[in-house]
Amino acid sequence: MDVQARIENLRKLIDINSYKYYVEDNPDLQDWEYDNLFRELKSLEEQYPQYITPESPTQRVGGISEKFNQVAHTTRLYSLDNSNNSEELKQWYNRVLKDVGTQKNSQLSLLDNNYNDVELACELKIDGLAVSLIYKDGKFVQGLTRGDGVVGEDITNNLKTIKSIPLKLFENINVEVRGEIYMPISSFDNLNKIQMKNNQKTFANPRNAAAGSIRQLDPNITASRDLSIFIYAAIFEKNANVLTHTDAMDLCKKLGFKVNAYKKCSNINEVINYCNEMSEYRKTLNYATDGVVIKVNSLAMQSELGFTARAPKWATAFKFPPEEVWSKLIDVEFSVGRTGVVTPVAIVQPVSLSGSIVSRASMYNFDEIQRLDISLNDEVLIKKAAEIIPKVVRSRKNENSIPISIPDRCPCCNTPLVEIPNEVARYCPNSKGCKAQIKGRIEYFVSKAAMDIDGFGESIIEQLVDKKYVYKASDIYKLTYDDFLTLDLIKDKSANNLLNAIENSKNVIFSKFINALGIKLVGKESSDILAQHYENINLLMSAKYEDLAEIMGIGDKMAKSIVEYFKDEENISMINEMIDLGVNITNKYSGIKDLRLKGKSFVITGTLETMSREIAQEKLKELGAKTPSSVSKNTSYVVIGENPGSKATKAHELGIKVLNEKQLIEVIEGVNHEI
Ligand code: NAD
Repeated sequence: MDVQARIENLRKLIDINSYKYYVEDNPDLQDWEYDNLFRELKSLEEQYPQYITPESPTQRVGGISEKFNQVAHTTRLYSLDNSNNSEELKQWYNRVLKDVGTQKNSQLSLLDNNYNDVELACELKIDGLAVSLIYKDGKFVQGLTRGDGVVGEDITNNLKTIKSIPLKLFENINVEVRGEIYMPISSFDNLNKIQMKNNQKTFANPRNAAAGSIRQLDPNITASRDLSIFIYAAIFEKNANVLTHTDAMDLCKKLGFKVNAYKKCSNINEVINYCNEMSEYRKTLNYATDGVVIKVNSLAMQSELGFTARAPKWATAFKFPPEEVWSKLIDVEFSVGRTGVVTPVAIVQPVSLSGSIVSRASMYNFDEIQRLDISLNDEVLIKKAAEIIPKVVRSRKNENSIPISIPDRCPCCNTPLVEIPNEVARYCPNSKGCKAQIKGRIEYFVSKAAMDIDGFGESIIEQLVDKKYVYKASDIYKLTYDDFLTLDLIKDKSANNLLNAIENSKNVIFSKFINALGIKLVGKESSDILAQHYENINLLMSAKYEDLAEIMGIGDKMAKSIVEYFKDEENISMINEMIDLGVNITNKYSGIKDLRLKGKSFVITGTLETMSREIAQEKLKELGAKTPSSVSKNTSYVVIGENPGSKATKAHELGIKVLNEKQLIEVIEGVNHEI
């Protein structure tokens, strides 16, 4: 295809998909797929400027529907140009410096670093939709969508239903602000559940849900949806004495607007660090973000730099790498975990996702294969979730789709699988003989949160189990230097390292030891709770079901599983054997007199200023409290730090008492006696 034809083809594709995204709020493409088309068009137009037309998508933004009154913006709304990595950020910054940076030394003018740095302001890029709000004499008078940037849709009545948009400011001034309307992720999940129940269309992501909710003809529907806003720009009258973007944001805050945190950076390297930090931090937030917006802070420099046809030259959006990607399902592996649960694992054509190459993705359980209607050769959408292993969330049929055959025997030991009533999983019941389960238990035993034996990778465990050196956890403490030397790739140095690691693990705290046993349903948190209730392993081994079930955070099912575990003679003799071989278990909770927070539970969300979350949890536990990771109706207090996640919202919903960091410190120090 010749260049001109490709350009036209790209424009058509982009126009169709823009319409679906901006007007119908119902996109077919993933954002990154759209971005790739856009990027290709932009680069072709840069190479062949003779083909640029004013109608090209690169020369304008967004789209408008006829549903609402169309109103011209007093000042145009632009889009943003993107930077996808630190190299592109540096290139953008260098262009800024060349255009406005004052030269350090006029004789060295050709060198890149020959300019004084320019201050930048960074903010999270909220993945919602842009609106402009006009205030006259401090009163909200009109609200418009961005539309095509020149003309927007009048959605004033709908915007008035959003609680975080002030109808009256704290000062009677004239101002136009711009911000991003968004739907919190938890509200988006709830909305989709309701839509599904009522057999109505579900939304692809929180952005589409927000756009679909705000562009309703009936404001009552908008009012029923949970929407919010962050303001990210403001146009004040000349006398407002605002010289920088961050001044403008501070003033917006004072006037009563909801403004997100910003960070001032004095050079591009600080910006890059901030973007890297945010790439992780954003996962803890209850709203969707797709990048970081970087703006030249000085308003005078902003007007000096100006705009291209569709975006300011004084700003760029660092886009986070995509968290979702399509790939082809080439096989399904059935893996057997330490508790015997068989889980399907998707083997896909390797693709890049969030900066790493992915070839395997979790499919949870057999029901999920049916629910998502997945077959071999299908295109599957893989999403990076909070867990390390990505998961399959959707599928698209292919001509040569082949149904997945679900095994009825254990793929490792061939034992017939069993289904447990009311549980979606299928189990291999051969817990003592199935090698996959034995290996899984050993892997868990040596892991960080358990005995923390360094250097025990998957391949070493595999060989130790295959050679029958290790069958149960206590066998690890009988391994010798000569045993290790028989393993592939193990030489003198690594054998000694492994023996040292085993020796070091012998001094273990009680909660970690309980966790290491891998009792079904008992994880890190529950092990902690058990260590607070039982002084030592002997007391735990003889604990009665009735007592265990009474403990807050343990409950009926876990209590049964614990009793079951200690009923098994083999488990008892394994524990005794470990103690005989030198494992020394100490309980950090024993002898602690001050257990004034016993029976209380604290969930911490957000960043604390004076200590890390882990240290705060440790201190609370030492006083007898529990520190579960999620909020439930049984939580006593939720401690809210800087930039809290969805747990804060949940605390409010459930009416749980909330503490700030100062109050938390008072609780720990015993100054606050109300708790
Ligand atoms: P954009 O979303 O990449 O960036 C501009 C917008 O960012 C602004 O209008 C503003 O609304 C928003 N923003 C959020 N936080 C901000 C902040 N702190 N400061 C300034 N602005 C902030 O550009 P766009 O033109 O709105 O949309 C283009 C994007 O939309 C594409 O990159 C693509 O991902 C998506 N899109 C997808 C499809 C599809 O089919 N999937 C179609 C069209 C567009």
